[in-house]
Amino acid sequence: ATPAACAPAKLPAHGVPGTKYERTFIAVKPDGVQRGLVGNIIARFEAKGYKLVALKMVWPTKEMASKHYADLSSKPFFNGLTDFFSSGPIVAMVWEGDNAILGGRKMLGTTNPRDSEPGSIRGDLCVITGRNIIHGSDGPDSAEHEINMWFKPSEVNDHALAEAAWVYE
Ligand code: ADP
Repeated sequence: ATPAACAPAKLPAHGVPGTKYERTFIAVKPDGVQRGLVGNIIARFEAKGYKLVALKMVWPTKEMASKHYADLSSKPFFNGLTDFFSSGPIVAMVWEGDNAILGGRKMLGTTNPRDSEPGSIRGDLCVITGRNIIHGSDGPDSAEHEINMWFKPSEVNDHALAEAAWVYE
């Protein structure tokens, strides 16, 4: 039997932007994995009060990397970026919560870690744009696209958390 605390949430609005079920795609890039920062990054999202609803370690192919960064295909750094993104395993996640997309972006900091505030992930943990350790969706459309690209629907969970009543009023 499913314990009451894990039963599906009563309002099935999962994935709907603008609700407390808003979802974003977050990935620890190969440099973050190699540097042992996966736990640090997950701890920050957990401590914030967002809910982890999907997680996997995956070694992207060059094709997956190119698809993930398709919007940047005309940029001069695209080839280097996709080589880097496919150079080792990433930790792909979906986090859910009120304002998770923009809130997650704030937690990441700016693209160039030089400009990232201390306290943000990039501000605290990395130094240059080409090794900025983490990816996060930049809007509702990219969040939906990226979640569907990296996860099957059956891999994204709709469970409730007992602590939700202490995160939301
Ligand atoms: P973000 O990851 O903050 O959403 P972008 O979508 O603009 O940033 O770029 C995606 C990724 O491409 C960046 O995180 C970074 O790894 C890489 N990148 C962006 N701009 C540059 C650049 N000028 N030189 C090298 N790599 C870059």
